[in-house]
Amino acid sequence: MTRTNPQNEDEIVSEESVLLDQIAQKVDAAERLSAAEAEFLFQPGVDVHEVGRLADRARRRRLGNVAYYNVNAHLNPTNVCIYRCRLCAYSRDADDADAYVMPDEDVVARAREAAAAGATELHVVGGLHPDKGFDWYLGLVRLLHDACPEVHIKAFTAVEIARFAELARQPVGKVLEQLIEAGLGSLPGGGAEILDPHVRAEICPHKADGRAWLDVHRTAHRLGLRSNATMLYGHVETLEQRVDHLLQLRRLQDETGGFQAFVPLCFHPEGTRLAHLAKTSPVDDLRTVAVSRLFLDNFDHVKAYWITLGIGIAQTALAYGADDLDGTVRYEEIHHRAGSDSPEALSVAQLRRLIGEAGFQPVERDTLYRRVER
Ligand code: SF4
Repeated sequence: MTRTNPQNEDEIVSEESVLLDQIAQKVDAAERLSAAEAEFLFQPGVDVHEVGRLADRARRRRLGNVAYYNVNAHLNPTNVCIYRCRLCAYSRDADDADAYVMPDEDVVARAREAAAAGATELHVVGGLHPDKGFDWYLGLVRLLHDACPEVHIKAFTAVEIARFAELARQPVGKVLEQLIEAGLGSLPGGGAEILDPHVRAEICPHKADGRAWLDVHRTAHRLGLRSNATMLYGHVETLEQRVDHLLQLRRLQDETGGFQAFVPLCFHPEGTRLAHLAKTSPVDDLRTVAVSRLFLDNFDHVKAYWITLGIGIAQTALAYGADDLDGTVRYEEIHHRAGSDSPEALSVAQLRRLIGEAGFQPVERDTLYRRVER
């Protein structure tokens, strides 16, 4: 991508439209965008609606007119965490008044309740408790799988898996094999934040680094597990660091093909030690969804996760390249603690209405994006 040195505002505008035209031609020819082109699309001056229209074209070419949702529930077994990341409003020290560890019977009851409500998936993530070994986390998966064998268990971020490997003094692959044997079905995409080490040093200095995050997913894919990838944006990162994050995900996907969905997560500063930062704007949220769709040309799915985006932006994001609203999401704690004001759960009827109103055909999927017929 070549840039001249524009002399005035008109020249800048016309240079932008030339670049947008070039990118549009590449999108229509299904050619891969460069990192420089993604950075250009992230610039606040570039027409976000035009970027959205391009993303919508790319998304319709891949998936047609359908948009997905699932019926799921979250389970956060403990909020006690050794890492206490600056970005986190959810974690507590073990002696804090509102620290908790769910007893086994509550874990089982929660899973049975979710299954009875029609959930096809349990999304299980939480803190890394200083007194709990790998066996406790492994036992949770076994407990859930034994209680509800028909429900897919999507559990533990790569940060948790990396810590289990440390605790068990075993390679990541061995840890994953035991979890699979206990009933693990796939990995969620959390803990990626921004992979750049300088950003991690500011927002989450103690947990697994970017390389370890990628290695866990690489190993999981090698073992046949599918996983998702997230990007927590809108805090201290630069646009270049955002694009570099996407680039690293795209490279790993070229290598393994094991990612199912990319989930952009806007940062909610409230309740964190980064509370002085401003929230992301709706335009930034929509632009991030759209650029992700355009740049991650080897990911089938981009989620508009309504819990973090809010229902209005998530619904709008379906026209900006997203194809999945995620699920009914009962019992989500992590983002609500950080000030997300979206409701506790949505019904299937609400999700279907949101998708239909946006002009798409709602399709219920399971965790592996197979259609669910009820
Ligand atoms: S973000 Fe995750 S790893 Fe960091 S403190 Fe919160 S729960 Fe722990």
